[in-house]
Amino acid sequence: MATAKSKKTALQSVKGMRDLLPKDQAIWEKIRKVTRDLGEDYNFMRIDTPLVESAALFERGVGESSDIVEKQMFSIKSKDDIALILRPEFTAPVVRAYIEHGMSHMSQPVKLYYIGSLYRYEQPQEGRYREFYQSGFEIIGGESDPLYDAQMIMLAYRFLEEMKIGKLMAQVNSIGCRQCRPLYRKKLVDYYKSKPACKTCKRRLLVNPLRVLDCKEKECDPIKKGAPAMIDSLCVLCRGHFKLVLEYLDEVKLPYMLNNSLVRGLDYYNRTVFEIFSGESDLALGGGGRYDHLVELLGGKPTPAVGFSIGLDRVVMMLDKQEPAPANRKEKRKVFFITIGDLAKKRALPLIESLRRAGVHVEEFMGKDSLRGQLAAADKKGAEIALIFGQMEAFEDSIIIRDLKTGAQETVLLIKMVESVKKKL
Ligand code: AMP
Repeated sequence: MATAKSKKTALQSVKGMRDLLPKDQAIWEKIRKVTRDLGEDYNFMRIDTPLVESAALFERGVGESSDIVEKQMFSIKSKDDIALILRPEFTAPVVRAYIEHGMSHMSQPVKLYYIGSLYRYEQPQEGRYREFYQSGFEIIGGESDPLYDAQMIMLAYRFLEEMKIGKLMAQVNSIGCRQCRPLYRKKLVDYYKSKPACKTCKRRLLVNPLRVLDCKEKECDPIKKGAPAMIDSLCVLCRGHFKLVLEYLDEVKLPYMLNNSLVRGLDYYNRTVFEIFSGESDLALGGGGRYDHLVELLGGKPTPAVGFSIGLDRVVMMLDKQEPAPANRKEKRKVFFITIGDLAKKRALPLIESLRRAGVHVEEFMGKDSLRGQLAAADKKGAEIALIFGQMEAFEDSIIIRDLKTGAQETVLLIKMVESVKKKL
């Protein structure tokens, strides 16, 4: 029994986490369908990885100086000594699975897709939650071919188009490779040394200099604008790779712009990185890039890879702003089953079941005994057809079909019920 105290302190969902209510489900179902359909159309195989992973996977994979590992991991108290966390991103777990299940022995590249929830300890705000959802696609193995990079940017774009998000624009950059990035990093540090950058940037210059380009502080804006661009420091191979990516994008006329300060928050990327935006919003809807060293970093053989993920909560947010959610399915006329009396109630269950098995969407409210109460419930549900099954009908093996709009009604034999109802839908 609820006490006065427990009534007062009603429990709420945890900060930064929220319920996806019945009214939200149509759009989430559409997202799941688009993910599945694109996965199949582009020959990706579905993978699901656990919610819980070892912290070491992300420390090694995402990078100890990344925001995710430094500040955002949801750690779990476990009974053994292994540090566990709720997954903050998908790429490292998918690569772990690729290695663990010997997928390098399959025909390469292996193309995988997924959808699920992620957990990051962030300051919740619009479009930023502690539990959020992503769909993602990864191409692991094969060649480090710029064609794959372009294909992934196109696929991310297509995903958002399928979701009817307008005014899309991809921002792309190359962050080079192990050869050219250190030289660029040095240039960047030298440039920033004498500049009055914010405290966070000063710290980043020591641990992860490229992240200064990610800084959102106003005071750092002019400094960032004058900073040397990675693109001017790319080695011949990286330059050639990036040039081809852009040429492929030109070929398919995909709108993109170069963004010299796009570095992404995860350390495993090399060469191509990208994010996709819509209209004026400065919240990225998705992003990804090439990560040719992650498989090796996590204990596998050197294996090129490229991938991206779409932030589904932000897709829903954009749609809420743009247009009403699309209807779940083409609405059929709703059917409401009404019983009067105990005998009718008892015999109603198999009848309702036979309607449902025949694909008729039936509602009922047999908790209410009176005809009035049930008709009122039918009205509330927006039902257009009522099936009325009373004492007499139960004796005669018949049922009344009433059109609630016109009031017209007919009595049919139970063996004809399904057929007669289907004709009226
Ligand atoms: P990331 O895994 O950081 O590359 O993010 C990929 C996409 O996920 C972003 O472009 C966002 O759309 C979305 N995203 C990242 N973090 C959050 C968050 N805390 N809440 C909601 N969406 C997020």
